[in-house]
Amino acid sequence: MKKIFFKLAMLATIPMILMGCGKSKEETGDKLKVAVSISPLKEFTEIIGGDKVDIYCVVKENMEPHDFDFSPSDKKELMERELFIYNGLGLEDWLSQAEEGSDIKLVDTSTNADVIKVNETADPHIWLSLKEATNQCINIKDALVEADPENKDYYEENYNNYKDELNNLYEEYKPKFDTIQGETFVTSHEAFGYLCREFGLEQKAITGLFNAEGEITFKDMEDLVEYCKSNGIKTIFSEGTESQKSSETLVKEIGGTIVPIYTLETKTEGKTYIEAMKDNYEKIYEELK
Ligand SMILES: [Zn+2]
Repeated sequence: MKKIFFKLAMLATIPMILMGCGKSKEETGDKLKVAVSISPLKEFTEIIGGDKVDIYCVVKENMEPHDFDFSPSDKKELMERELFIYNGLGLEDWLSQAEEGSDIKLVDTSTNADVIKVNETADPHIWLSLKEATNQCINIKDALVEADPENKDYYEENYNNYKDELNNLYEEYKPKFDTIQGETFVTSHEAFGYLCREFGLEQKAITGLFNAEGEITFKDMEDLVEYCKSNGIKTIFSEGTESQKSSETLVKEIGGTIVPIYTLETKTEGKTYIEAMKDNYEKIYEELK
């Protein structure tokens, strides 16, 4: 019995010796080991990479990218991975820490993005536009193909299918939003500039691009209350996790209600990217039509 066990153990060991060790792909059953920064990029990479990639997401589900501390355990994970897929445009202000002393390949998904600038500052929320999200998917697909050319056809096919899904959603809502061009909705965090550009809408926000301004001034709140009252606005869209207090103050002043909206900066419970975007469109359209 002991002999048989020994033989089995030897058989299991031999392939490992033959394959050699220290190579990351082999440790995870031949999967390409990648890291991503935020939840939407995790989902895009999962869809395009399928079962060929192993993904580590740096900003966890209960965290918020505008207020995130890169930790030693994140660093440890990144040291063992081949690609780091990130949003870019200043969203990951800890990028230099991720890069330092590591030979991980950086993949900036904002490459070739049509960037919106607000007071000279790039708006990082590109994933909230279907066109820009598609561009991010191209950058992810190209990086996976380059790192793992053997599975090129697989990545291309997954990308093409998903691109069609994103485009179908755009085609579904474009005619609806065409009927409410130039309309403005009020939101807690200035995250929807790309969504607005895509469909010819306007946003007015309680807090700015990076959501780090903290409490807004009394004067700003007064102006917002005046704006909502004179434009008959009764709905404040808010993600709920951040600046909830300011949203509550505003709705109290105008006698309105808070309606949840997804910035997708953290994982949206039970919803895919497409479902959450559709949910946003539906709520915004219902409010503005
Ligand atoms: Zn944001």
